[in-house]
Amino acid sequence: MFVEEYITKLKPYEGGKPIEELRRELGIKGEIIKLASNENPLGPSKKAIKAIKKIAESVNLYPDGDCYYLKEKLSNKLGVSRDNLVFGNGSDELLELIFRTFATKNGDEILYCYPSFVEYKIIGSSFNKKLVEVPLKGFSYDIDELIKAINSNTRIIFLNTPNNPTGTIIKRSDIERVIEATDSNKTLVVIDEAYYEYAIAEDDYEELLDLYKKGNVVILRTFSKAYGLAGLRIGYGIAGEEIIDYLNRVRPPFNVNLVAQHAALAALDDEEHIRRSVEVNRAGKEYLYREFDNMGITYIKTYANFILFDAKKDANYVYGELLKRGVIVRSMAGYGYKSMLRVTIGTPRENEIFIKNLREVLDV
Ligand SMILES: *Cc1c(COP(=O)(O)O)cnc(C)c1O
Repeated sequence: MFVEEYITKLKPYEGGKPIEELRRELGIKGEIIKLASNENPLGPSKKAIKAIKKIAESVNLYPDGDCYYLKEKLSNKLGVSRDNLVFGNGSDELLELIFRTFATKNGDEILYCYPSFVEYKIIGSSFNKKLVEVPLKGFSYDIDELIKAINSNTRIIFLNTPNNPTGTIIKRSDIERVIEATDSNKTLVVIDEAYYEYAIAEDDYEELLDLYKKGNVVILRTFSKAYGLAGLRIGYGIAGEEIIDYLNRVRPPFNVNLVAQHAALAALDDEEHIRRSVEVNRAGKEYLYREFDNMGITYIKTYANFILFDAKKDANYVYGELLKRGVIVRSMAGYGYKSMLRVTIGTPRENEIFIKNLREVLDV
């Protein structure tokens, strides 16, 4: 079957290893903990679970293609109009929708810093776009170099704050500089805030929401991380009305499923669950920092629910040894960080199991 060469060159996305896959592959009988995909270790809100059970009886019906009630609730919560919101089958789908809507010309360039969220690269390659990568400087975005790389072909700029996999943030003034350096008729600036709920709990994280008013800005957030609904696939974008209108023309009609809509509605009502999730994350972060310090391991200060750390040994080796012990994390060797790994902050118990096994593997 004929396919274009750029398709044959694509590599499928490699996510965190699923627990059942590890059990099958290594025949591990005991407990397996997954700290690899930045999922909420407390699980979903009880209110969301209740809503999911209730709506299960109605899944013979198509969902509301407009997400009417969800839009209503979220627009009230955020203080934006419903015309400033779009929902997706995960924020991943919104990334793809943004490409399909705006990066349509031959020669369009996509600009982002690297390492950052791999989907910018994967989706960009799948649309055969020229990817311009600006290396991080000391694990943070190099805004001066990013701005220098903007040209008349730049169609989409991705800014990920906090940045996955480093956990670092971009200053609001730097984001404003990027927006000012763009031609608002030509270049869309996407601010991916997948870890917003964790970041905003920190004193020095600056609110970015109002930047959607700039007109060529989309802010992406998700129910997959702090809200604990990754398995249902739902995220949202906040943007000017014109951008939202274009995205809605390209968006598949029933892209957000019925169960996800009801679960997200209930999850938005459970602020206590978010508060607890953020608190467990903060305590887990402090515990892991302390243990890393005790072990002489260096790490990057995080604003999210994961930590990038330097094992000072081959990261793939450390990853493999942890796997054998039933602990799934992420090796960052593929990102060029040869001795670094990313661990999701888990429950207190998961964090202790991770540290115990890491000590064993590193012999410290
Ligand atoms: C997890 C993650 C997302 C994807 O979230 P979904 O809504 O589950 O598709 C987007 N961006 C970043 C940076 C992430 O880490």
